[in-house]
Amino acid sequence: MHSKGNNNSDGVSLDVVARYDMGYGINPMRWYLKKLARKACIGLSTLNTRNRCESIVPSIRVLAYHRFTNNKFDPVAVSPKDFEQQLRWLSANVDVLDAESFKVAMNGGLALHRDAVLITVDDGHRSFFEHAYPLLAAYNIPALLFVCPALIDKANSSREFMEWDDIRKVSLNGITVASHGNKHISLGKVSSEKAEEEVLNAQNRLKQCVNANHCFFAFPFGTRLDFSETLGAMLLSLGYQFCFSSIHGKCEPLMGTNIFPRVKIESGESLKTFIAIVKGHLDAWRLVDDSAWWLQQRGRF
Ligand SMILES: [Zn+2]
Repeated sequence: MHSKGNNNSDGVSLDVVARYDMGYGINPMRWYLKKLARKACIGLSTLNTRNRCESIVPSIRVLAYHRFTNNKFDPVAVSPKDFEQQLRWLSANVDVLDAESFKVAMNGGLALHRDAVLITVDDGHRSFFEHAYPLLAAYNIPALLFVCPALIDKANSSREFMEWDDIRKVSLNGITVASHGNKHISLGKVSSEKAEEEVLNAQNRLKQCVNANHCFFAFPFGTRLDFSETLGAMLLSLGYQFCFSSIHGKCEPLMGTNIFPRVKIESGESLKTFIAIVKGHLDAWRLVDDSAWWLQQRGRF
């Protein structure tokens, strides 16, 4: 478990990632209600498309993973068994792009003949190294790993995150490493100067430690409160052409932005649900993300 009260030199508690991303203490009732809502959303979408031809235009969805454990009530953990089933289905049914192919496709330089996905994994948790990376290697499937250097620097003491040696190893074997900010703080809740410092510190530390790709970035937390067009412009000026949020949605070539949506893969969802999500039957969930933002802005959530 992540240690409590370990502040870095700027006094920003790294436990912010523990509270949110570790998913401790989630209310089971809230978890069940969310699953019910997602299933209803998929059911309605399936009903709606049953009597008409599905789109023949291939789509690209960026799948967002975090941890790989059997903790059902950890909202962002996928069990290793479920992950293997998902990889098996993906390898047989869609094109799984690596970061470079995604970049080419999004710039309009790659013709897709069927749906495609890019697998992304946030935070650099140890469970990625122990459970997901061996499966990705076994299926020869690439992925994009977003890490926070300040958390990796503390890996020895926390045991929660991968160490630099682990990250260097995966980066030589099909995993592209990229920035998730330095300390996993919301860039949307600090001054623009502080946000830029956070991005630059991460970039510099990654350059020292691993052969990272500096075109890709994932906003910590990634809700609408955690990014903006101004932050996107700042990141673009530093070379980040592809910045991912946690807002639900699909990607299309030539979108005219450097901020892109993703599709969160969560715990406790069946393979059938996963397939429906990859096929776009949960795309209406974006409305939920938009509603949550509306409520957050009014302090009701
Ligand atoms: Zn994160």
